[in-house]
Amino acid sequence: MGEPEQQVAELTHLLGTARRAVALTGAGVSTESGIPDFRSDGGLWDQVNPEQVASIAGFLQDPAGFYRFWADKFAALVDAEPSPAHRLLSELEAQGTLRAVITQNIDGLHQRAGSRRVYEVHGSFQRAHCMGCQAPYGIDFVFTKVTGEGEPRCEYCGDLLKPGVVLFGEMLPPAFGEAASEVDQSDLLLVLGSSLEVFPVADLVPRAHRAGARVVLLNRDPGPYDAEADLVVRGQLGPVCEQLRGALR
Ligand code: NAD
Repeated sequence: MGEPEQQVAELTHLLGTARRAVALTGAGVSTESGIPDFRSDGGLWDQVNPEQVASIAGFLQDPAGFYRFWADKFAALVDAEPSPAHRLLSELEAQGTLRAVITQNIDGLHQRAGSRRVYEVHGSFQRAHCMGCQAPYGIDFVFTKVTGEGEPRCEYCGDLLKPGVVLFGEMLPPAFGEAASEVDQSDLLLVLGSSLEVFPVADLVPRAHRAGARVVLLNRDPGPYDAEADLVVRGQLGPVCEQLRGALR
């Protein structure tokens, strides 16, 4: 057996013997759905400064500019379809092999693929809220305002509306604490498509090791935790996940 086949066979075995497997996903599971990631060559951070377009300070300084930058990118998420990685994880959950998906993604594609226990630790593009009275809004309402007026404002109190995504400089939602508890109880952590450069999410990897779980990393590029992982599957997620789906049937 060549190396990729060997790795898929090893991972199939680990999944078959795990009792409390949990997945952690990043932007790389959605690039094959047509959504660019941030840190790959040609990713979004090659084109813009994250401090300006993805931090709470940048948002508050220039909300109209923030919305101008993100409006079409958010709009593209509405029509995106799940990738083989999303499908694999939803099938593993349905089979009872995977307990939950912890995702850094805001695109809702795990749920669209059928995953039920999803912790969105960086929020979701589908929600928004008023920064003043906290009134909740759907993203559709926000889009109509962006198109018409540049900067969406609350219908009740007139304050600024903020998308339900975690920006740099913001606290993580309660879902992060729940996700960390899942990791504490896990015996296998599968990390797919993440550079593991964003904290505190990246700390879930050493946390899984401390809990006694095995850690498997599936990613195209090398990352900071490769040396301590139990298995690193290096490659394009689409073909690797299709092979795994075949092996697990
Ligand atoms: P990242 O951009 O830092 O890293 C993505 C990783 O995925 C890279 O290491 C890259 O090598 C790998 N990758 C990309 N396409 C791949 C493929 N087809 N097969 C295998 N590997 C592939 O992403 P991150 O670690 O998730 O951190 C970025 C932050 O940006 C996250 O917090 C997330 O909230 C946000 N983000 C979300 C989306 C989304 O919702 N789809 C998209 C971009 C960024």
